Amino acid sequence: MRKHMIRLPGDYDYVGVYLTNVCHLSCPYCITGHHGASYRAERLRQLIPSQWIEGLNRLELPEGIPVTLQGGEPFLYKGIWEILENVRHKVDILTALPPLLDRERFLRLKTLDWNKRETPYPTIRVSYHKGQNDYKELIRRLAELNDIVSIGLYYLDHPAYEQEEYQEVKRFADEHGVELRKKEFLGLWDGKIYGTFLYEDAVLGQRKGVRVLCRNTVVPIGPDGTVYRCHSDLYFGRRALALGNITDESLEFPRGHLICDNYGLCSECDVKVKTNHHQIYGYTSVDIRFPDRGAIRELQEAKNTDNQGRLLRNARS
Ligand code: SF4
Ligand code: SF4
Repeated sequence: MRKHMIRLPGDYDYVGVYLTNVCHLSCPYCITGHHGASYRAERLRQLIPSQWIEGLNRLELPEGIPVTLQGGEPFLYKGIWEILENVRHKVDILTALPPLLDRERFLRLKTLDWNKRETPYPTIRVSYHKGQNDYKELIRRLAELNDIVSIGLYYLDHPAYEQEEYQEVKRFADEHGVELRKKEFLGLWDGKIYGTFLYEDAVLGQRKGVRVLCRNTVVPIGPDGTVYRCHSDLYFGRRALALGNITDESLEFPRGHLICDNYGLCSECDVKVKTNHHQIYGYTSVDIRFPDRGAIRELQEAKNTDNQGRLLRNARS
């Protein structure tokens, strides 16, 4: 049976495709484990490349939105090369550039078109993690890829790192003609929560015990194709709350807000104030409402979509 196209609402800003939860590094601050989430605890089932290609090609994306391959480490998913050659969208990649990944491997691809688009930022974003990988080795390898793909190095601005080290990395990157950017540290360090969040108590690491209405404009898709409502649901593996699977015959994204009882365990990615895909600052992925209990009860009782839409509009006003 022919599967339906999957249309994303026009204001959606990001599609994160988590090809694998496996990674060659073990960063102690890895965001996938915040609040005790189990995302990387054991190897998750993975779709095969043909399932990803079919599913991703069914997505109808808003103008200017790529799919972003990430993980874990997306290059540890062997089928990534097949996906890059056969997906019709532009593709960004978040990686720590595992060893043995070199210029020749990229040049063996039938096309690099997936990487060709005008952006104010590198579309392959390589992260340097102090104590886990070596910035000199990374910068030398990035320099060899610079003329064939859009690529840059991201330095995690961790509160424990000396500013002098950043200057050293910057000098080395400049010498090699490699773009270097800083990445904000998010989460708890030494008793303090770092990051700028629209909803401060959303990332406290424990359920606040309030029932909220939440609407997300990013789409995290897990290694087995599960389409989650938010990053917290992905990292905690809350499949029962998922929107569906990219291999489903049809899949629709909610236009309105959804009920959530996990407020307080939100992922920093979803509630931080950041730039959108145009690099305009002030965007936050989720819109969270705190309606009174009566409005929530009415919403739960709503039996059909029209009725639910009306109630959601009421809850918003
Ligand atoms: S490289 Fe990224 S995914 Fe891997 S452990 Fe470090 S922070 Fe986590
Ligand atoms: S309130 Fe937090 S945990 Fe709940 S759906 Fe929204 S982002 Fe996810």
